[in-house]
Amino acid sequence: MRDVVVVGGSIAGFMAASELRTGGFDGRIRIVADEPIHTYERPPLSKGVLAGDEAASTSWTAASDESLALDWLLGERAMSLDPGGHRVVLGTGDELTYDGLVIASGATPRRLGGQPDLAGVHVVRTLDDALGLRADLDAGADRVAVVGAGFIGAEVAATCRGRGHDVVLVEPLEQPLARVLGPEIGAIIADVHRAEGVDVRLGVGVDAIVGDERVESIRLSDGSEVDVDVVVVGIGVTPNTGWLDGSGLPVDNGVVADATCSVAPGIVACGDVARWDSPRYGPVRIEHWDHAVDMGRAAGRRLLADLGDGATEPEVFDPVPWFWSDQYDVRLQLAGRADGDMAITDGSVEDGKFVALYGRDGMVTGALGWNWPAKTVRYRMALEDGIAWDEAVG
Ligand SMILES: Cc1cc2nc3c(=O)[nH]c(=O)nc-3n(C[C@H](O)[C@H](O)[C@H](O)COP(=O)(O)OP(=O)(O)OC[C@H]3O[C@@H](n4cnc5c(N)ncnc54)[C@H](O)[C@@H]3O)c2cc1C
Repeated sequence: MRDVVVVGGSIAGFMAASELRTGGFDGRIRIVADEPIHTYERPPLSKGVLAGDEAASTSWTAASDESLALDWLLGERAMSLDPGGHRVVLGTGDELTYDGLVIASGATPRRLGGQPDLAGVHVVRTLDDALGLRADLDAGADRVAVVGAGFIGAEVAATCRGRGHDVVLVEPLEQPLARVLGPEIGAIIADVHRAEGVDVRLGVGVDAIVGDERVESIRLSDGSEVDVDVVVVGIGVTPNTGWLDGSGLPVDNGVVADATCSVAPGIVACGDVARWDSPRYGPVRIEHWDHAVDMGRAAGRRLLADLGDGATEPEVFDPVPWFWSDQYDVRLQLAGRADGDMAITDGSVEDGKFVALYGRDGMVTGALGWNWPAKTVRYRMALEDGIAWDEAVG
């Protein structure tokens, strides 16, 4: 019997596995998933789950759908890979041999340098993380510090305000999300948080998290100290490639794949762990839910081609990336990349509804929608074919 092994049981791994099955692969598909439950949605973790919505994140029935005949190895961890011998070694010492391998091991939150292991200090990546943080908040935390105003930090700050906690949001950059959306949009996001009562501290880092067994305060790089009951660290993620050490596979800020998601013959990669050769943007690693869905599917199809099932010609994976974030009553959506110049082309900040376009070298690179889904989706579709900057911005 032919065998496919998928490492990582989240959205990218599951989509690759289901694409393989529905595309005609009739061998065994084993999914090595170190979390103890089937695939679930991560985006609600910083939103509905934290707010207390019990139904916001449950494992998908699709993932345990018996008609897909997937063998889930829940709670198992891949420790190493021997591509020459076509073997994955598990934490139990067991070895899985394969004809095809999907690398979908995702990413892990970064920690602060010297971050102490104190009660009350959290990251949010898994359902367990989110439920642990929520329990800590429910236990009577008044003051919450969120370190890092990226998407996840900004969402956690918004959700905590919605729950009624005092929130301080600490960001070393000059504006929240400045690296992703630029300083102008970052300034608008900072204003929204301030208007909601968040104490936004910009341009400062965290020198120390202070406490004995439990966190008591954070010391900032401007010399101030803030008393807190809970700290949430949201300073980005690193791709989970440690289990590939010594395998000889190319790793450089993620496992390196070509434009068709192929890493080596019979090995594909997808989702947050994969840095692939995007025809539009060059080598890039993207940490978005929809991207993990689409790249999971594309990687599954690529492996079908390697294994001689389904399409025989490998397809180039060339999407316009898509992301959303919910903060208070604001829905942000980004199509493409926020790269280069920025101009608000539709609506206005005052109206609380607008689209900002980004552009470089005469072409629009991305569209950011602020509470305007229909228009943002239209830009997303137009970006597939390319939009001239002069035409769009006038
Ligand atoms: C709190 C939060 C909110 C988010 N909100 C949004 C949003 O609003 N919009 C959006 O577009 N995106 C959002 N994202 C990002 C999105 O969830 C990720 O891009 C997506 O989950 C990536 O999927 P993945 O399958 O590539 O990796 P992951 O979801 O990271 O899954 C990888 C899986 O592999 C497992 N694993 C790792 N190493 C091994 C190993 N050696 N052996 C076995 N298993 C292993 C991991 O434990 C994990 O279960 C959010 C993410 C988080 C954490």
